[in-house]
Amino acid sequence: LVKLQNLKKAFDKHTVLNGINLEVAKGEVVVILGPSGCGKSTLLRCINGLEIVQGGNIIFQGKDITSDKKSWQQVRQSIGMVFQSYHLFPHMTVMENILLGPLKVQKRSKAEATADAERLLDRVGLLSKKDAYPRQLSGGQQQRIAIVRALCMYPEVMLFDEVTAALDPEMVKEVLDVMLDLAKQGMTMLIVTHEMNFARAVADRIIFMDQGEIREMASPDEFFTNPQSERAQQFLNQFF
Ligand code: ATP
Ligand code: MG
Repeated sequence: LVKLQNLKKAFDKHTVLNGINLEVAKGEVVVILGPSGCGKSTLLRCINGLEIVQGGNIIFQGKDITSDKKSWQQVRQSIGMVFQSYHLFPHMTVMENILLGPLKVQKRSKAEATADAERLLDRVGLLSKKDAYPRQLSGGQQQRIAIVRALCMYPEVMLFDEVTAALDPEMVKEVLDVMLDLAKQGMTMLIVTHEMNFARAVADRIIFMDQGEIREMASPDEFFTNPQSERAQQFLNQFF
């Protein structure tokens, strides 16, 4: 579904992604781990067209979209992204936030989009909050709304960048459970997280990055029980 070939990204002279090769199949869940500053967020941002790359190719559904500005507009609708901070519009209700994309960007009918939004809100246990404003919700609730907002665009793949990093510990699980549920339903996902137990549970494949390169690619069991490189071992030692 998504294929990266020798992807390179630099900010001025500073190389951040140094030739990333990665193929993600439909329905696959890939968790990206690595120390701070190794390029995880930049990688997700490149896949979503938020960064201009200096080299390599991004293939999405068999089509090279690397420098095709026109297809990016289309592609971005198929790639949902959720960040650490939820970016909900404070002056709009939950429902208005969710419907913005489906109505304004995708020009879907309000009745149909609303029905979808209600179904998705129900799935994350927040249907009763549809007329609330973001400030009336907890961080965990806002983050689940941000996920629903992305899902309501019918994405082919979802990118998650440390979506629980800013949450109080008691709210982390409710968000991770939504993601586990999505994985079970076959959503293709690329996830950056520092929740190691979750990573192990959700991932089909773990990628360990260091200094802009993929250093290890393995099944969760392999990676967590027997990391190959010293860097990965050091990284895991912080958590266990
Ligand atoms: P973290 O775990 O802390 O979120 P990360 O792996 O997501 O780290 P990135 O945010 O991708 O790391 O950053 C990789 C490198 O690129 C860092 O050295 C960072 O300083 C640099 N960088 C990221 N964005 C920019 C930017 N817009 N301009 C200049 N440098 C940037
Ligand atoms: Mg990051």
